[in-house]
Formats: sequence, C-alpha cells, structure tokens
Amino acid sequence: MWFRRDLRCSDHAALYHALVQSRRVYCAFVFDTEILGALEARADRRVEFIWESVAELKRELERAGGGLIVRHARARDEIPALAARLGVQTVYANHDYEPQAIDRDLAVARALAAARMELRTFKDQAIFERDEVLTRAGTPFSVFTPYKNAWLARLKDTDLRPFPVERHFAALAPPPQSALPSLEALGFARTNLRELRMPTGMSGARALLEDFRGRMSQYRERRDYPALRGPSYLSVHLRFGTISVRELARAASAGDAGAATWLSELIWRDFYFMILFQHPHVVEHAFRPELDAIGFGNDAGRWRAWCQGTTGYPLVDAGMRQLNRTGYMHNRLRMLTASFLVKDLQVDWRRGERYFARQLNDYDLAANNGGWQWAASTGCDAQPWFRVFNPVTQSQRFDPQGRFIRLYLPELARVPERFVHAPWTMSEAQQVQADVRIGRDYPAPIVDHAQARKAALEMYGRVRGSR
Ligand code: FAD
Repeated sequence: MWFRRDLRCSDHAALYHALVQSRRVYCAFVFDTEILGALEARADRRVEFIWESVAELKRELERAGGGLIVRHARARDEIPALAARLGVQTVYANHDYEPQAIDRDLAVARALAAARMELRTFKDQAIFERDEVLTRAGTPFSVFTPYKNAWLARLKDTDLRPFPVERHFAALAPPPQSALPSLEALGFARTNLRELRMPTGMSGARALLEDFRGRMSQYRERRDYPALRGPSYLSVHLRFGTISVRELARAASAGDAGAATWLSELIWRDFYFMILFQHPHVVEHAFRPELDAIGFGNDAGRWRAWCQGTTGYPLVDAGMRQLNRTGYMHNRLRMLTASFLVKDLQVDWRRGERYFARQLNDYDLAANNGGWQWAASTGCDAQPWFRVFNPVTQSQRFDPQGRFIRLYLPELARVPERFVHAPWTMSEAQQVQADVRIGRDYPAPIVDHAQARKAALEMYGRVRGSR
C-alpha cells in the first residue's frame, strides 16, 4: 500500500482493497525528492504537516499490527525498487488527478509491469471523479450549478459508504525496517506550525470535524465573515487525506440548509478535480484560451505591495498578511485579494496563482487554479469580466467592525470603525488621534479603485473587442 495524499488508516479505498485482496500488506510512504526539491523554502508548513501526519499514521499502523516504511527518495524509482525488494505482486494506491502525479503513476505502473508486478489504483479523494458526472450529451460540464444538480441526482448512500478497513487489519504485515527520518534529515526546518496550534494528522482532522459539527447549521450565515469562526478549516486535511471526504459528505448530507451549503463546497472540490482532469491545459492557460491574450501590466511595485500586504486597502492587506503568517486565507479574502491583484493591479493571474501555491497550506492545483481563473474571469464558470470587487465596500460588508483587519494590521488598532475600511480618508488630526500616520505607519492606497476599475474594463474590453 503506497500512501500519498491519503494519510489515514480508516475509510480508505486503496488500503481496504489491499487488505481484502492480499495475504500480507506492507505500507509505505515516500517523501518524494521530486516534489520536495521543487519547493522554494527549506521551512515549509506543508512538509511539517505531512511529517507530523505520517508520524501519527505510522504509530496507528503499528498499533494495528503493521507499520509504515518511510523513504526519502524519488518515488517513481523507489516504489518499484521497494516492491521488488519486498517481493510483492501488487502495489495499491489511490487516484490522483494532477498532471505530474498522473505522469509519475504511469511511470511506476510501467516499471512494475516490466518486473511482472501491477499498480492498482482506486477512487478515494473525490466522491465522483473523471467522467462519472456528465451532461446528457455525455460531455463534461463546464458550469457548476448543472454539474452540482447532476452530482446530487447521482448520489446514492453507497457512494458515501465507508471502507471498513479496521475489520481487515489482520493482513497488515510489520515491515522489515521502519525508522521515520527526522524533518532535518529531509532537509527541512521547523516552521511556526506548533505556535499556530494547527491540528495535524487523523486526530487533528477529527478534532476539527467535531468542532465544526456544532457550527455546520450556521455555515451559510457565517461563512463570509473572516472575523467569525464560520468555515471548517479542514482544507489542509482534505488536501493530505487525513480524513475521508465520504465521512464529511455523510455528515453534510444528514444536516439542514447550512449543511447543504457546506456540501456544495465539497461538490466544488469535485468539480475542479474534474475540470483539471478533463482540461489539463488550464495549468498554464486560461480555460478559454482566447483570454490568454489579456495584456497585463505586471508592475513590479504593485506586485510587491500585494505580496507583502501593503497595498493601502486594509482588508486586502489583512488577507495577505494572514496568508503569509499562517498559510491559511479565508475564502472571501481569497476571492477579494485575487480579484484585486488581477483587476485593480493588473497583474497576470498566473503570478498570483503561483504565489498562493507557495504559501497555502491547503494548496491544491485544481482548487487553486479554479479559484484564480474564477477571479480573473478566464475560467469555466467564472466571475463576469466586468465585475470588479470594490475593496472598500467588500470590507464594509464582510468585516463591518474591522475586527479581522485589526487582528492582522495592529497599526490600525485605534482607527475608528467608520474609517477602518478606508483609513486615508481621515484628516491629519484624526490620524494623530488614531495613532497612525497614513503614508508612514500604514501605506496610502497604491491605486485609486475607481480609476483601476476603468483601466481593468479597458484591458478586458480590448481582448473581447478583438475576438
Ligand atoms: P470550508 O468553507 O469549510 O469548505 C469545506 C471544504 O470544501 C474545503 O476545505 C475545500 O476542500 C472545499 N472547498 C471550499 N470551497 C472550495 C472551492 N471554491 N473550490 C474547491 N474546493 C472548495 N481551496 C483549496 O483547498 N486549495 C487551494 O489551493 C485553494 N485556492 C484557492 C484560491 C482562490 C483564488 C480561491 C478564490 C479559492 C481557493 N480555494 C482553495 C477554495 C477555498 O477558498 C478553500 O477551500 C477554503 O477557504 C478552505 O477553508 P475551509 O476548509 O475552512 O473551507
């Protein structure tokens, strides 16, 4: 059993099939040098999250009578080599939908086949995948609402039934050697993960789910306000599979209207997996290729200010500082900061997408690309090109008292509520009273939103006009 982004030993498709179809099952995880080598920072919260989660998985598998072989190598070489050394017939794993992972799995399948072994893979991280939900004409959907309706119409209890892995633990085999390399041995340093008290592993996911169960019915009302504990914060766990999406979808299906709204978010996740699988060109290009011609200005100063959270628009800056400090950003702010970068600052969405990919703990190619293409109006079911979020009115609506702003921008702590969304409108005297000088302690806005909006409409209009 080759674990990848499915770091749990309950309700697990591939592990279940391995256990019921085999006499003895060895479990393995590879810290893949191909993936780790491409990371820019040597302190990366995701690597630490995975390391902690792998450590817990290993302990749990040992308790169940097995263990976990952990390697630090190139997975596409190491898995066939390990399989040969252990003398196994079959390697089990779960499907992955990212182009690089598909390529790796093909290479592993080929190497195994050449040595008379087999790679068997299963659906696990999605409820419906690939071409399981299609239009009546048999083509992939490109609009979310009809996709969601078809998804819901297709759903049966059996789709959410857990795989009872525990009943078959007797087939787990203790591995010959199973030391866990330290984070330092992998070439990484600790981050602020512990300081942030971010729950890791299966136990962390369970604690977050239990906490969210009580709040699920209020999800619809609370989810848009970053200062409230509205969403589940389970994204990094879904990313690395420390909890089963079937379990989450079961909890959501059994609930009220709030839970149904949350279920829609899980369906968005399947939708973007499907889009990436069906249209791999989105990795580098606009979903609608004619929109690759948008002439972004890509001003270096604007780009730097956005990354650092110093644009002068408080809610945009608070979102970016939340991202930089914690690796998480609230969904409302992902939409706002992405729109602001692309439309107000006219920087190519691909640069923002890559920045998020570096910073987000829950970074997922399909969801991130989908989110960015939505905000940039280049995607399949995107924000219309002429809709440009107003960073001040968004702030007034979604952080009315400026509580979230003040959390991440302490320099604005004493700014009165009526000015906190646009602090540059304070007079000199008001700035003195609020203990902040705009332009010195907190930046003046780097663009004027009304003018930037006009420029964005012209930029998009040029592409539309040329078609
Ligand atoms: P909840 O509100 O509790 O949602 C539950 C789960 O549903 C999430 O954990 C996630 O798995 C899924 N989900 C929710 N919204 C979406 C969505 N729009 N698309 C796909 N799945 C969704 N999500 C990621 O998981 N990884 C990313 O890299 C990512 N990048 C994004 C970039 C942009 C520009 C935008 C606008 C959105 C992005 N999202 C991404 C979607 C969404 O913002 C996060 O999933 C969500 O904020 C995670 O917090 P949560 O777990 O508390 O979410």
